[in-house]
Amino acid sequence: MDKSFSESIEILKTLYDFSAEDMQILERVDAAASELVPSEIDHYLKRELNTDAPRIAKKHGILGLPIDKKYGGLGANPLVGVLAGERFGQVGLGFSTFFGANVMLGQMSVQMWGSDEQKERYLRRAAAGDIIMAFGLTEPEAGSDPMSLKTNYEKKGNKFVINGSKYFISNGGIADALIVFARSKDKPDEISAFLVDTDTKGFGVEMDLTEKIGLFTSNTAMLSFQDMEVPEENVLGTLGNGMYVAYSSILNGRMGVASACTGVIRDCLNASVDRARERVQFGKEIGKHQLIQEHIAEMALNLERTRWPTYITALRAIEYGKNPSAELVRELDQRSAIAKRIASRAVWESADHAVQVFGGFGYSLLSPVGRHYCDARVTRIFEGTDEIMELKIAEHILGKGFRAF
Ligand SMILES: Cc1cc2nc3c(=O)[nH]c(=O)nc-3n(C[C@H](O)[C@H](O)[C@H](O)COP(=O)(O)OP(=O)(O)OC[C@H]3O[C@@H](n4cnc5c(N)ncnc54)[C@H](O)[C@@H]3O)c2cc1C
Repeated sequence: MDKSFSESIEILKTLYDFSAEDMQILERVDAAASELVPSEIDHYLKRELNTDAPRIAKKHGILGLPIDKKYGGLGANPLVGVLAGERFGQVGLGFSTFFGANVMLGQMSVQMWGSDEQKERYLRRAAAGDIIMAFGLTEPEAGSDPMSLKTNYEKKGNKFVINGSKYFISNGGIADALIVFARSKDKPDEISAFLVDTDTKGFGVEMDLTEKIGLFTSNTAMLSFQDMEVPEENVLGTLGNGMYVAYSSILNGRMGVASACTGVIRDCLNASVDRARERVQFGKEIGKHQLIQEHIAEMALNLERTRWPTYITALRAIEYGKNPSAELVRELDQRSAIAKRIASRAVWESADHAVQVFGGFGYSLLSPVGRHYCDARVTRIFEGTDEIMELKIAEHILGKGFRAF
């Protein structure tokens, strides 16, 4: 098992009693991550989607990681989930994004809100790796403020007809099914979530966004829906509860992003330590220059700053699974926002420190830290920007009347 990954598991054993089954899942995750690395690098250097990743992940049976065993998943609890997220982060944010959109946002929405029939139809196949899922909330004019979304639906017979577009959707161009959030044409206050098969007439991928500043191995697409007919049994949850579906899923997504950032910081630190021990300038290893030690220390501090809020959020999510309450949902909303906000800034700074330790080679995508540097920036934007996280954190402390977003 990867040395850093074992170290994270060992340190958590002081807080949590991992079962033999938990350990088997973590070993499986580790094996998948090790096999993913060469293909991630290969596709990254070609600036293209990693088309091998779904097959490798499926082979290791990790695509239903947090999904109930009843639907073919591994039934991993949130702590095992964030450890897995951390290990995938070491591989790179491209794979983490594929996994996050497919599993943490797509599959988890169905697990939390789907009917038994929807779970049989979508979750079972997605957990097995037979289909890929995505989560379509953002629109050209509705990003930080998803309540302003314009995609609309209208009931016609036993179908809903959806028109509109979605923007920046991870896996959108490769998904077999996705969750689409739309507003009722007749009752504009009503937002609902729909399970949509991407082979439905009227569904279109307008563009795969390849002109990104990183995250090359993950698909980001712009989607359009023209008179797209969705059967009424594909409403996820109940009509009008779309934003509950969205917000509860994003909470899992934020934990996923924070854990991925932990893994990226870990990889930046490991790579920088190796480099600082090997690279010689002015007659000694650069790690013996005190200013390089400062970069190393900052990355180590960022690792600790990031991992603990993420682990604690996951432990509280385990508690929520045992004793659900509205109070614990609010706590998880706050904790996941804190974990994500700390992680996104820490990963960005750490990638910068790592590039500095590497010097010119760090500026190249041939170095792991160069790739992390390009990818890390997006964590301050997706799944809620840094600014929105800060406003949410403050609102939780000040009280509802102080909501500033
Ligand atoms: C690579 C990538 C993948 C993505 N994947 C998905 C996906 O799978 N599904 C999905 O639905 N979306 C996805 N997104 C979209 C992402 O969630 C949005 O980009 C994000 O929520 C921000 O929205 P926006 O880009 O419209 O920025 P805007 O909302 O326009 O924000 C622009 C700036 O204004 C700030 N701002 C906005 N409102 C306020 C306020 N009230 N107070 C202070 N500052 C404010 C923001 O923080 C930001 O700095 C993805 C984005 C990227 C880049």
